[in-house]
Amino acid sequence: MCEIKTGQVIKSTGSWYRVKSGNEVVECKIRGKLRLKGSVKSTNPVAVGDFVDFCWHAQKNAAVITEIHDRKNYIIRRSTNLSKQAHIIAANVDLALVVVTLSMPKTELVFIDRVLAAAEAYNIPAVLVFNKADIYDAETYEMMQIYQLMYADAGYTSLSTSIVTGEGINDLKKLMKDKLCVFVGNSGVGKSSLINTLAPNLNLKIGDISDTHLSGKHTTTFAEMFELPFGARIVDTPGIRAFGVYDFDKSEVSHYFKEIFRIGQNCRFNNCTHTNEPGCAVLEALENDEISPTRYHSYLNILLGDQGKYREDIYK
Ligand code: GDP
Ligand code: ZN
Repeated sequence: MCEIKTGQVIKSTGSWYRVKSGNEVVECKIRGKLRLKGSVKSTNPVAVGDFVDFCWHAQKNAAVITEIHDRKNYIIRRSTNLSKQAHIIAANVDLALVVVTLSMPKTELVFIDRVLAAAEAYNIPAVLVFNKADIYDAETYEMMQIYQLMYADAGYTSLSTSIVTGEGINDLKKLMKDKLCVFVGNSGVGKSSLINTLAPNLNLKIGDISDTHLSGKHTTTFAEMFELPFGARIVDTPGIRAFGVYDFDKSEVSHYFKEIFRIGQNCRFNNCTHTNEPGCAVLEALENDEISPTRYHSYLNILLGDQGKYREDIYK
């Protein structure tokens, strides 16, 4: 006999899982026959962020995961582009912080939109973080403000941050509070620096974690969830860097651009690609400046290809 408890997986090594249940932390194994209800074929049945039921055998001093609750979302990484096997990096993520910079390095808008679209496809709310605000000259800062308005129109909250001046750090904490967050964005934009600023005592060499082990298909991902002192939690693993490398299904790309999806409801044809169809509400909105041309350009970029080019950027 055992006692059934519920908790959330905070660490996985592939052979055992650390589960937090109330104030208790329990090391669990999984039952050999454990099956996932969903359709995703993954190399790991249980991921960080999963809510699970486990069976606690007091006599044996052992715990076994017996059930995985339905996931509200999950981030996957395929071992190779063509592979059907996927690795679930994290589940039940509440917020993706998309970190970008307008100098050193400059993040291209099309890359920003690609990551936002991936977040949408994963069903994870995203916020844009313009980091390194301290090094923007007046013109660049103004540009950022214009971008922020543009993304607000598209439906995204954004903020500007700097680990040097502390700009935006409190706002960032407020957005993250009580949520399970992931930091995504190109290398060098300041993800590790931000995390270290938010949680100086965490003492994580997060940069090292995310920069090593990235190549090689036999990489084991030891995902772990960290609690930050102000009540937020983050997951950081190498695989999260591949967030923007999402295999978009062409017929669904428009679903992942919030404003295009919303306005596209009014197109004459319900399979409208918003490229040249008569009665296209999106093209009309573009004409009337109700949709940003750069967002539309990013939409076309994903829809019509050129994916390879941006993939290379991500892995730089
Ligand atoms: P990551 O690859 O996204 O994790 O980026 P890092 O955190 O390693 O940061 C890359 C470089 O940018 C480091 O040299 C940081 O010191 C620097 N950096 C990060 N955030 C800021 C910032 O807000 N302002 C300035 N001036 N430099 C920053
Ligand atoms: Zn249309």
